Amino acid sequence: MQLANRIRKVTPSITLAIDSKAKAMKASGVDVCSFSAGEPDFDTPEHIRTAAKNALDQGKTRYGPAAGVPELRSAIADRLYKDNQLEYKPEQIVVTNGGKHSLYNLMMVLLNEGDEVIIPVPFWVSYTEIAKVADATPVMVMTEEANGYKITPEQLEAAITPKTKLFVLNSPSNPTGMVYTPEEIKALAEVLLRHEQVYVVSDEIYHKILYDGATHLSIGATSRAMLERTIISSGFAKAYSMTGWRVGYLAGAPEIIKAATTLQGHSTSNVCTFAQYGAIAALTESQDCVETMRLAFAERREVMYQRLNAIPGVTCPKPDGAFYLFPNISQTGLTSMQFCDALLEEFQVALIPGIAFGLDTNVRLSYATDLTTIERGCDRLHKFVEKVLATQS
Ligand SMILES: *Cc1c(COP(=O)(O)O)cnc(C)c1O
Repeated sequence: MQLANRIRKVTPSITLAIDSKAKAMKASGVDVCSFSAGEPDFDTPEHIRTAAKNALDQGKTRYGPAAGVPELRSAIADRLYKDNQLEYKPEQIVVTNGGKHSLYNLMMVLLNEGDEVIIPVPFWVSYTEIAKVADATPVMVMTEEANGYKITPEQLEAAITPKTKLFVLNSPSNPTGMVYTPEEIKALAEVLLRHEQVYVVSDEIYHKILYDGATHLSIGATSRAMLERTIISSGFAKAYSMTGWRVGYLAGAPEIIKAATTLQGHSTSNVCTFAQYGAIAALTESQDCVETMRLAFAERREVMYQRLNAIPGVTCPKPDGAFYLFPNISQTGLTSMQFCDALLEEFQVALIPGIAFGLDTNVRLSYATDLTTIERGCDRLHKFVEKVLATQS
């Protein structure tokens, strides 16, 4: 069968593939330590579940406006202002089926064939693939471990051409967990302001998951001029442990939001109505649940970070956000895929190969799992690396 060109150039998600392989091994009784999941291991907080259940009982089961329940759009606008000093009106927000769908909507309405999208490497798996579906050209910019895998203003400037339409910024980052400092954000904004055809999409889905006093500055909050060219992509999945709910949002210029709403009106229509009521509760009620989960992540991060850096030949900077570590394993002489395959086969530990994020020298570990699994998995990982290094010499 001859499928459409648009799908033939898209690579299936390696992260989802490895995660399902690990889950299948577990289901067949194998004792797998999985660090592959890109999602919190907590249940959605009770008050959020209750709000959705109540909405269901109150008959919030019908079609709603394609752009989302007005009360939710207002709650998102309020939060963006309160948390990130971003001034968006409710009309500048469209509720989507998760952050991934936000990015999809955005690229579909903003990009034309030949438009270039600057994506720092390592990157979250879907940025490049969505850009390709939108017929645009991903332009990958390699970052350096010494700079915390963050793009520098010089690198950004050098990558911009007259065809550049969009720059993808993700802080805190998946897969590295690194957070751009306010100074670094301001320096990137300065570069972008010199090129008026360039928009920035700021994927801020991890902005509430920060450690060691790190602060998150949204690039849209740096100036009025920058706000006009910033599109925020975010959602409820990570901070509120609502991955399966499929609720996210896009905030940006009215034309972009209107176009995304039109696209959504002919594709998904509104996001599940009662799920949106759960999201309203998430934003308007107590934020204590976010802090409780963050503290649990903080403790696990400390343990995993110490354990990884105790492994000979493995180097890993200490990230300030999200729930990932992204160690460099190049001293093993293995590609990231060989490393992950052998580790899963021989020691039953599931990681994601860095090649999925464009960097073959690294692997990604998620610490969104219990401390016992972290200790046991790190024991096995340590043994595995020692074994590989021993056979090398
Ligand atoms: C998880 C994630 C998303 C979006 O997740 P959804 O489940 O679609 O809301 C977007 N960007 C990054 C970097 C992520 O890790």
